[in-house]
Formats: sequence, structure tokens, C-alpha cells
Amino acid sequence: MEDLSKTMQDLMNQRHLNDNYRQLMAKVYADPQVTAFYHEHQAELAEDVMTRSAAKLYEFVTEREKAAKGTATFAKGYEPQLIVANHLIDVAYVPTVATQEKQAQQQLRQRVKSIAMPKSIREAELDSFDRDADRAEALMAALDFIDAYEASPKRRHQALYLEGSFGVGKTYLLAAVANQLATDGFSTTLVHFPSFAVEMKNAIAQNGVAEKLDALKRAPVLMIDDIGADAMSAWVRDDILGVILEYRMQEELPTFFSSNFSMEQLETEHLRISTRGDDEPLKAQRLMQRIRFLAREITMVGANRRPQ
Ligand code: ADP
Ligand code: MG
Repeated sequence: MEDLSKTMQDLMNQRHLNDNYRQLMAKVYADPQVTAFYHEHQAELAEDVMTRSAAKLYEFVTEREKAAKGTATFAKGYEPQLIVANHLIDVAYVPTVATQEKQAQQQLRQRVKSIAMPKSIREAELDSFDRDADRAEALMAALDFIDAYEASPKRRHQALYLEGSFGVGKTYLLAAVANQLATDGFSTTLVHFPSFAVEMKNAIAQNGVAEKLDALKRAPVLMIDDIGADAMSAWVRDDILGVILEYRMQEELPTFFSSNFSMEQLETEHLRISTRGDDEPLKAQRLMQRIRFLAREITMVGANRRPQ
């Protein structure tokens, strides 16, 4: 094997290059990554690769230096890499570690779809969920669900109905479960139900009801947050909530709930009475049957965690 630097020297002498260019290229040809790459791939490379790929080698060294200095590069978030193409050396741009992490983070975020939920749910994680005795049952149940669901996502898994007063961390726990599922590759949709109901009413005018409804019906995992927080019209109860729950029960799709009401209270104080004041015990009972099929009631107590 001919000595690389001698080859370079010869090449440059032959070409009667001007000093400036010569200096530039001397640095490029002496670059440890360039020489290592050349030696590693010499067998696949054309004999005159160093002249024919000079522009690419120069690009590689300068772009790499720019990236290291943090100045604007040819492709932001990407770094140059030498590759062999048609017996010559070419430059490919690959995402930097930081970019890869960012992309992974974005993918993760996309697995948690949220409708009218606060942004802060992104930060919720099981590891920082309170492990006090009051909240332990809910946490254990959440962990059990995750294990069971991830082991066989196509099977039926009863989810949780988290009941508890304002600020005990119901939404936080749901979000932490969703984030954990996302990390493990599973998608969840979280919906603040009272806001969703308003959105649905507005969607009537734009013919958008079916589409919005469909997204919730078919979500692989659905979390209905704050059910019962606002009075529901008979339409929302029967044609929205009822339809979603019916479908999810038939398809055995995991569905979580959180509420300030117990299941019992939700049925008698909330679902039975429509906003028009009609008392409809049978409709309430039918809905509750679906909710009970989908989720197990867990009472969360504890101090209000909301900043006062
Ligand atoms: P709920 O839905 O039961 O009304 P939230 O989940 O909204 O309660 O929790 C109330 C507040 O306390 C929120 O700001 C939430 O981010 C915070 N919080 C709840 N649980 C935790 C926790 N384990 N660690 C940190 N913050 C928490
Ligand atoms: Mg909440």
C-alpha cells in the first residue's frame, strides 16, 4: 500500500495548485478521519479517488468543523459522514445524536394525542407519582394495567375509573400512564370530556361530528378525563358518550375515566338527569353498565396537589 501522504503530495504537485488551495487541501488530506476512512475503504476506492473526491472531502471537513463550532451548517441538526459511492468518496448527512433524541421525543409525543388537555400533562411520569398509602392502590392498578396491556394489547383489559376529589392527581396519573405507554410504543388519546362535549356541539355546524367521534371510538387506548364535571345534554350523553362507549365495549378497547364522582354518584346525580331536567334512570343505567364493563372503580384520596 502506497503511503497516503506521499500520494497526496504527488497529486498536489502534479496539479500545480495555488498556495491557498494547497494549504486547505493539505489540512483535509491530513485529517485523521479522512485518512482513516481512506485506509479502511481503499480496496473499494478508485485509484484517483483523492483528486476526484477532493471537493467532497473538503466539504466533509469544513461542515464537520462548522457543526462542532455550532455555526450554521449545510443541513441543520445533521452531521457529515464519509461514504463510498461508485468507488469515490461522498458525503452523507446523518442526524446528530441531539437530533435523533429530538426525533424520538417527537414520535413519543405523537403517541399521546390530547384533546383540550393542559400542556403540563407532557411532564407527568409514573416515577414522580406520589407513593403515599392513599394513592398506592391507584398507582398499583395503573402499573398492573400497563404490564397486562403491553404483554397482549389485543386482549381485553379492564382499565381504571379514578374517582376522587379535585386536585388529588387523577389527571396526572392518567397522563403518566399515557406517557409510559408512549415510551413503550403504544398510542393513547386523552380527552377532557366537558370541553370535548362543547367542541362536538360546535362541530355540528361544520359537519365534523362523525370524524371527531370516530377518533375517540377507535383510539387504541382512550382516557376520558373529568366525566361529570359539567352537566351533559341528552344528546352528548346518548349520541356521543353512549356511542363511544358502546363501540369500545364491543371492540374491547381499553377506556379509562376520571371523575370527581363515584360511579354511583355519576349514575344517579349526573347521567340520570339531562340538562333539560328529564329523569332517565334507564339510560343512565345502560351507560353505567358500559362504564363498569370498561373500567374498575378506584378511589383516590389525598391532599389537593394543586398550587393554591
Ligand atoms: P385532579 O385531576 O385529580 O383534579 P391533577 O392531576 O390535575 O388532579 O393534579 C393537581 C395538580 O397537582 C396538578 O398541577 C398536577 O400536575 C399536580 N400533581 C398531581 N400529582 C402529582 C405528582 N404525583 N407529582 C407532581 N405533581 C402532581
Ligand atoms: Mg383532573
